[in-house]
Amino acid sequence: MADNAVDIDKHHLITFGRSTPLPKKRIIVHTTENAPGTSSQAILDYQVRTRTGSYHRLVDATGKITLANTDDWQTWSTGNKGNDIALHVSCVARAAMTREQWLAQPKMLEGVARVIAYWARTYDIPLVKLSRAELGAGRHGVAGHLEAQVWGNTDHWDPGYHFPYDVVLGRAKEINAGKSTPGAPTPPKPAPKAPITLDTPCKSHVPGSKHIAPLADYIMYTDRATYEARRQIDQVKAATERIEPKLDEILALLKEQNK
Ligand SMILES: [Zn+2]
Repeated sequence: MADNAVDIDKHHLITFGRSTPLPKKRIIVHTTENAPGTSSQAILDYQVRTRTGSYHRLVDATGKITLANTDDWQTWSTGNKGNDIALHVSCVARAAMTREQWLAQPKMLEGVARVIAYWARTYDIPLVKLSRAELGAGRHGVAGHLEAQVWGNTDHWDPGYHFPYDVVLGRAKEINAGKSTPGAPTPPKPAPKAPITLDTPCKSHVPGSKHIAPLADYIMYTDRATYEARRQIDQVKAATERIEPKLDEILALLKEQNK
């Protein structure tokens, strides 16, 4: 079964951004600038709270891929047009890491390779590392926030000068050629999909609303709104019944005067 490159689906948590067209033909790699070992969930919680940035997928030291936004959603990743036209994956790591430090995170690199392999085969993106000039010239492929500076408005240089693109893109090519995890004969288990329960946080569908609440709360809201609407209808009906006889009196008076 094809890997959808999602182990943990949290895309309902981020409410900012907007819908953008697919297919996207550029993949941009980032680092969150946290010590490896920090969880993707901690990054996501921070981004939800502060609205300071977002990505499509996060990969932490466990190698698990967290879906933060669906591919058709605009992320706040590069502060420019890259937010609209690119797919963004971020490693929970630091841009200052050496090649040795990166290679000491094999699970994280495998997770990033899975994400890149998935996007490459889904949107027909070449598995090539693009230079800043090539990205600026509109070529399709893979680059970092460093190269995305060419789109303007950003001076970030993540995922750093030592991110092992050769290893990650090589592995992404292997994955798309049908090779399983190096050294491990079993393919990665498909992510168990969390069932929706009354406790699942849901976004409000009221236009303009940023409200998120457990599903159970929405049932309570519906109950209360129905009760209040019923009460208002009753009040309007009672008022109308009081006014109607008066209207008849007024009409009768007017008729009398016009005689
Ligand atoms: Zn970045």
